[in-house]
Amino acid sequence: MSAPRAGRTFAARIVAWQAAHGRKDLPWQVNRDPYRIWLSEVMLQQTQVATVVPYFTRFCERFPNVEALAAAPLTDVLSLWAGLGYYARARNLHACAKQVVERFGSRFPLNTSVLTGLPGIGRSTAAAIAAFCANARVPILDGNVKRVLARHFSVEGNPSQARVERLLWDKAASLLPPKSDMAAYTQGLMDLGATVCTRRAPKCGACPLRRSCIAKETGRVEQLPAARVRRSLPSRRAWALLALHENRVLLQQRAPAGVWGGLYALPQFTSAAALRRAASAIDCRPRLQALPPRLHAFTHFSLTLLPMRLDVRAPPQALHESDLVWLPLEHIDTAPLPAPVLSLLRETARPAGTAATDRPVAASRPERRQPSSSGSTPSATRKRDTML
Ligand code: SF4
Repeated sequence: MSAPRAGRTFAARIVAWQAAHGRKDLPWQVNRDPYRIWLSEVMLQQTQVATVVPYFTRFCERFPNVEALAAAPLTDVLSLWAGLGYYARARNLHACAKQVVERFGSRFPLNTSVLTGLPGIGRSTAAAIAAFCANARVPILDGNVKRVLARHFSVEGNPSQARVERLLWDKAASLLPPKSDMAAYTQGLMDLGATVCTRRAPKCGACPLRRSCIAKETGRVEQLPAARVRRSLPSRRAWALLALHENRVLLQQRAPAGVWGGLYALPQFTSAAALRRAASAIDCRPRLQALPPRLHAFTHFSLTLLPMRLDVRAPPQALHESDLVWLPLEHIDTAPLPAPVLSLLRETARPAGTAATDRPVAASRPERRQPSSSGSTPSATRKRDTML
């Protein structure tokens, strides 16, 4: 890594560019309300602005402040979040709201070391909240910013490596403007990474950093930052029971931690035989119909879901498991369902004459395993031997 040419400081160019070209009319920019800033920053983790905006608007209408969010049942939060993916964020959001209400009298702390102790708030999210709400002189380092810095300063190695990440944090901390410019600078860096210094086809001609950018000068824009060495993902299979009766579908609430934690999904089994046994408990002469397999990619494994449809003639009076529910199909768009389950139901089980609503289903981007509120990584817990 070598030093870029001198001139107007890195930060001053970002601040001036942000004033002229940055985003200034996003719904969370109308004021410096820490609740709205925090909500937007959590939603924006791993997710693009265009996807976040409608979710943010719906959340603010339903939960206008942190007290309303903390008081809501987790199921309501998951319902509003459904389709946005990375569901650990929604669980942490709810846990964080409760802590802000209980420990801080509903006022968000704006100190980064206190913020990072709250569920779902990492160093970069904490810095963004503190910079936007209190002009704190602390650096952010999300994925977009890592890319800008790695290119501008020609930092070798993949940013997810601890050594490279440390170097980027140090670099980010050395570039900060005066306190009065921190909000514009932070927003400008985010905007530049999202709209100009993009992963593919960056618009270097429109970049305020082009005169000092080492990657541009050396023709290495496409090579930086270095790609992560990808291991092939382990694959899993699960058999999913799509049981239908009188325009209702049988769903099971997932265990709180792990993949799709707390959401409602089709009952899943580790084998076709286990699924058939469960089907027999619901219908004494089950006629199962295999549906086409569905592939879903998580960041840590890929899942092949093998759905089997069962049109139940006379379901048992009571369900044996307390986490099983018969959900009317007209409610699937507002229920907390993972996007792949929702799209399967929309395609195969929607009652005649019911139109799909405009609830977005997130594109099939990989879902990332995220730290739980305790900081540990949740594992895919098994409720019973046959369930995934
Ligand atoms: S000049 Fe190009 S590569 Fe360098 S920071 Fe700007 S957009 Fe990124």
